[in-house]
Amino acid sequence: MLIANKIELRPTPEQATYLNQSCGARRHCYNQLLAHFSQPGVKWSKAAAYQYYMAVLRVEFPWYSDVSSRVTRNAIDDLDRAYQHFFRRVKAKAKNPGYPQFKKRRAVLHELSDQLTRTYQVITIEDLNVSGMVRNRSLARSISDAGFGELRRQIEYKAAWRGVTVVIADRFFPSSKMCHACGQVHDMLLAQRTMECDCGSVMDRDLDAARNLDRYGLDRLDALKPDVKRTQESGKTVSAALALTA
Ligand SMILES: [Zn+2]
Repeated sequence: MLIANKIELRPTPEQATYLNQSCGARRHCYNQLLAHFSQPGVKWSKAAAYQYYMAVLRVEFPWYSDVSSRVTRNAIDDLDRAYQHFFRRVKAKAKNPGYPQFKKRRAVLHELSDQLTRTYQVITIEDLNVSGMVRNRSLARSISDAGFGELRRQIEYKAAWRGVTVVIADRFFPSSKMCHACGQVHDMLLAQRTMECDCGSVMDRDLDAARNLDRYGLDRLDALKPDVKRTQESGKTVSAALALTA
């Protein structure tokens, strides 16, 4: 059985959480710590960072508790590496010791594209041009600021390294108007959030669209690489569908 996973820019709350968890929290925590420890008189140490996290950040940003504690530990480790590098360079009287920098969104895109190309055998990208469809505004903004083109570029070159197939869904593929169960195409208003089909299938519209994209991608995978066996380890997903709005 294939377990399809989809990451869309019309994300359901769970999808938004997944994205935020996978790339937002670590960067956010890193930046918050760096802002604090860049103040005059505040000295960096991992212990101090952990204390500041427990006493201030976790209270100020309660959503941290939704993500694994590993995420914040990773952020502290990341920043520690950056600081240790800086301290060594200062000690060596380097001309440009390189004080730690705030993490930009490009770094977020790298984390996301890494994760996708490491996890899936086929990644289907639906190239939409409808920014009004984005429901999660903060997520949409963070990705659109960084540039969809950049995300797609990263996915494509990393996929090439890793032997992952990238399928670009045709702009006219009716992903969110087609019933995933029987293939019937419906006239759907944007406000209709549920796909209810004559065949009896009832499904969240975004989920239905993602199923369609997954199948689209897997069909192309079969056509392009018929000898590729779709491995299905326990709980491991094979296909990701990504709807990008430009
Ligand atoms: Zn149907």
